[in-house]
Amino acid sequence: MARVALLLGGNEGDMKRTLQTAQRLINERVGAVMRCSHRYQSEAWGFQSTQPFTNQALEISTDLSPIEVLDAIQHIESELGRNRAAEQLEKATTGARYTSRPIDIDILFYGSEIIDEERLQLPHPLLAEREFALQPLAEIMRSFAHPVTGKTVGQMLDAVRQNTAETE
Ligand code: ADP
Ligand code: MG
Repeated sequence: MARVALLLGGNEGDMKRTLQTAQRLINERVGAVMRCSHRYQSEAWGFQSTQPFTNQALEISTDLSPIEVLDAIQHIESELGRNRAAEQLEKATTGARYTSRPIDIDILFYGSEIIDEERLQLPHPLLAEREFALQPLAEIMRSFAHPVTGKTVGQMLDAVRQNTAETE
């Protein structure tokens, strides 16, 4: 059994409903949902969008391998209306790195596994920079330590907030 942290997010459609459905499908197919954070809203990051993002963190307990978890969550994303081909086209047209999407599910931690492959990097490489991921995660796994840096989720959140305050 591995303890896995997921971040769910999106900025299109009825996010409350989409997140509820995603959580149900994750619970059925990926692993039992042990804890879930509240839903948090934030401004779009890395691209211009009028629709704010909603994010929620889940802790699940799974028997699946890391790549099996990735396959399962990508399948759920498509079922919930995510169209990667259309997003690629929009990114190519606008030059943006990110686009609006109805649902994105990322793996933040898979226990203390460290993986650096093209399809899967663990822990999630941008976690320490993303307040929108750390804030919901801190609600459910504040004292969990990053296997590479040793910093806890709570410490990473404090650091990213400190950084934001300094650059403002
Ligand atoms: P993003 O999440 O960066 O907005 P995508 O959801 O389209 O964009 O993900 C792009 C690729 O990132 C996926 O095809 C997946 O193979 C890869 N990836 C690498 N590490 C992870 C991870 N920890 N969680 C989810 N996807 C990952
Ligand atoms: Mg993703």
